[in-house]
Amino acid sequence: MTNLTKEKTIGIIGGGQLGQMMAISAIYMGHKVITLDPDPTCPASQVAEQIVAKYDDRVAIAKLAARSDVLTYEFENVSADALAPYEDKIPQGLDLLRISQNRIFEKEFLIKAGVKVAPYTVINTLEDLNDLDLSKKHVVKTATGGYDGHGQVVVKNIVDWEEARELADLQPCVSEEFVSFLKEISVIISGNGTEFSVFPVCENLHQNNILDKTIMPARISKYLAEEARSMALKIAQTLKLSGTLCVEMFVTNHDILVNEIAPRPHNSGHATIEACDFSQFDLHIRGILGEPLPKVALLSPAVMLQVLGQDLSTAQHFATENPSAHLHLYGKIEAKENRKMGHVTVLTDDCAISL
Ligand code: AMP
Repeated sequence: MTNLTKEKTIGIIGGGQLGQMMAISAIYMGHKVITLDPDPTCPASQVAEQIVAKYDDRVAIAKLAARSDVLTYEFENVSADALAPYEDKIPQGLDLLRISQNRIFEKEFLIKAGVKVAPYTVINTLEDLNDLDLSKKHVVKTATGGYDGHGQVVVKNIVDWEEARELADLQPCVSEEFVSFLKEISVIISGNGTEFSVFPVCENLHQNNILDKTIMPARISKYLAEEARSMALKIAQTLKLSGTLCVEMFVTNHDILVNEIAPRPHNSGHATIEACDFSQFDLHIRGILGEPLPKVALLSPAVMLQVLGQDLSTAQHFATENPSAHLHLYGKIEAKENRKMGHVTVLTDDCAISL
């Protein structure tokens, strides 16, 4: 009898909620998953085998690589050097990792890919910061290590400038012109190296710099939505993208500017699980395995609501009151303030809905 199985073993660096949801998609497709994460109770440990070790533990990475057909990562701050010996098993490639780990490389790459970014300057020394034109508002961001608004200062006056000086004294930074945007949007796109599938545009609302709500599709004109999707496509083509990538953008009165890219499934794409015929996680797995990709269809408009530690009981109550809401809890043991514990997706065009 012919063995028709094409089961692969997929090694995921990072076992948080993104790793967990990647693993669930992979397991549904008949693959085996092993995650590497230092926390033995991490979300992915509940659905897949785990190697308990630090993300940059070279012995553990070697073990994971030896047992995996392909390696992927669920977050961008993985050591590219530690992964370098296994580059042939990493379809996303290490260049993409290096680009998204450093805002200076990222901006240079985005310009090369032919998309617009906010005007910016590189701050390598404190003298560079002295040249900042304080008649305009700026956002000074560390080149590496920033997330959810950490590692950045909005500079409107000399007091903020002093704060930016403290950042720039320690590390290279970029200073971007402050964008008075109308909306923040993101485009999730998946590739298999040659073919690309673009998801409907997401509209993102933040609270305290943390994503609070995503509306899919974004409430923007058809023209702007196509513009945003074609910018994401340009980026994916330049990268010869394998797997899923998120492109975060600002919509202004007359333009779309790319803010940053994340080389993996993204918080703003969670609604794709129910709202689209394939999720961002399904296509990540198919993409890194080099399989053919479908054209993605939106099945229903949707709203995704983030569930943070402090929202847990409200979200459970909301799900009981709204039985058609899809509650996802990631299985994190401790519900800390502002910790992402889960999300709720509601298939609705009522954008005002909230927990
Ligand atoms: P980031 O870490 O680059 O994603 O920035 C976090 C948040 O800060 C974004 O979601 C925006 O709300 C805001 N932000 C970042 N850069 C700018 C900018 N150049 N102008 C205005 N707001 C910004």
